[in-house]
Amino acid sequence: MFILFVFSLNRAIAEYLSHDLPYKLSPDDAFVTSGCTQAIDVALSMLARPGVNILLPRPQGWEVDLDAVEALADHNTAAMVIINPGNPCGNVYTYPHLKKIAETAKRLKILVIADEVYGLLAFGANPFVPMGVFGSVVPVPTLGSLSKRWIVPGWRLGWFVINDPNDIFRNPKIVERLKKYFDILGGPSTFIQAAVPRILQQTEDVFFTKTINILKQTSDICCERIKKIPCISCPYKPVGSMAVMVRNL
Ligand SMILES: *Cc1c(COP(=O)(O)O)cnc(C)c1O
Repeated sequence: MFILFVFSLNRAIAEYLSHDLPYKLSPDDAFVTSGCTQAIDVALSMLARPGVNILLPRPQGWEVDLDAVEALADHNTAAMVIINPGNPCGNVYTYPHLKKIAETAKRLKILVIADEVYGLLAFGANPFVPMGVFGSVVPVPTLGSLSKRWIVPGWRLGWFVINDPNDIFRNPKIVERLKKYFDILGGPSTFIQAAVPRILQQTEDVFFTKTINILKQTSDICCERIKKIPCISCPYKPVGSMAVMVRNL
């Protein structure tokens, strides 16, 4: 009974994320975490070794500065992180840009850790494309949660999902180590876990449309009001997430 329950939860997460992918994730690719925060913790613990570094690119024109990534990467670099849709810039990366990120990471032989806690919260011209779309180019651990799209940050339900259809990253040792690590981690409460399949499968579209409309309206208001404040400006109108970047004039 318990095994069935855990399996249906992981399967629900794998199915939910597979909607937007060119391949199907299996329940074995998905791990449940206590919010996206714990998924970040897992990613760091998984890669930790003496001297290792992870690149967190600064935005350059609201895209990843890939030249800077190439210049900074060294033999101790294990991964780069992207946050898409972006906090704090409110940007949403295009398909061609994500492809370039994947190709750069492949060349550098590093993973792309995709923090997609704002997944699908895009309200501008760029549709949200999950980094996992490029999982066959470069292995992508995708981190997410219910916190933002379902607006329930207190429920502490998140996921760590491996997008690696070609098994580049997935050697049995790494998977075994990950599974053992998840065995000793305290995940979210069982009450919330039991609700996840229905939450992921049966939330009505009108709920998401309403959230997107509110985000768009509030970001419009925010940018309008910022224009009226003499000492700051809004250089880029947000097209995703829940953040807006301001500039000090
Ligand atoms: C909010 C947020 C998180 C944490 O999400 P939780 O599910 O609440 O732990 C992680 N990354 C980014 C970029 C966030 O904005």
